[in-house]
Amino acid sequence: MEALERAYIAAIVNAGAVPFVIPVLDPADAEAATSCLDGLLLTGGGDVDPAWYCRMPSPHLHEVDVWRDAWEFALIEAAVVRGIPMLGICRGCQILNVAFGGTLVQHLPEVTTLRHCDRQRAGKAVHSVAVEGGSLLRQIVGGDGLGVNSLHHQAVADVGKGLAVVGRAEDGTVEAVEGTGDIRAVGVQWHPELLTHESGHAELFQWLVTSASVGAPLV
Ligand code: MN
Repeated sequence: MEALERAYIAAIVNAGAVPFVIPVLDPADAEAATSCLDGLLLTGGGDVDPAWYCRMPSPHLHEVDVWRDAWEFALIEAAVVRGIPMLGICRGCQILNVAFGGTLVQHLPEVTTLRHCDRQRAGKAVHSVAVEGGSLLRQIVGGDGLGVNSLHHQAVADVGKGLAVVGRAEDGTVEAVEGTGDIRAVGVQWHPELLTHESGHAELFQWLVTSASVGAPLV
């Protein structure tokens, strides 16, 4: 079964676009799949196989799906080639980082005491994120910080080539990355689709839709 939380769909619709949910397919079909897209939303889900970033698997991994990993790597590559913007959410932020050669913290409770997996309060801000000055993320969210929900047990460790860390939780955990140069990508570790009632979160979907409709910036 392929399933997607309705909140992602609602967030894209509310930002003024028509979403298409893409199933996991053969990576060879990624170019064809992206040829009819103006933007790409990488959604949440299970853990990325650590073999992709050359680490032994933690015993705390769950829902590893190498076919989904491979498919999303191919989608990201095709999106970069076509110059379409990408928004990565939770797992989407992590797969984006691994796609660009980065690594992940496989189980946050081993490295921090801040609670990053709080499913009972999925629609509430449970910790803060400090947003880097001068970043695209700061322009999008309109401030130097925001409250976020937290439904993850992994996070970006070494940042991928061509990406920059632009948001951190109060314990230093990476909560947001964005593309540098001509890589049009923003990845957030929280779930903005569940926080659209709070300021700064619906704006992430608005950024994806607005930048999708304007095409690649002229340089
Ligand atoms: Mn968090």
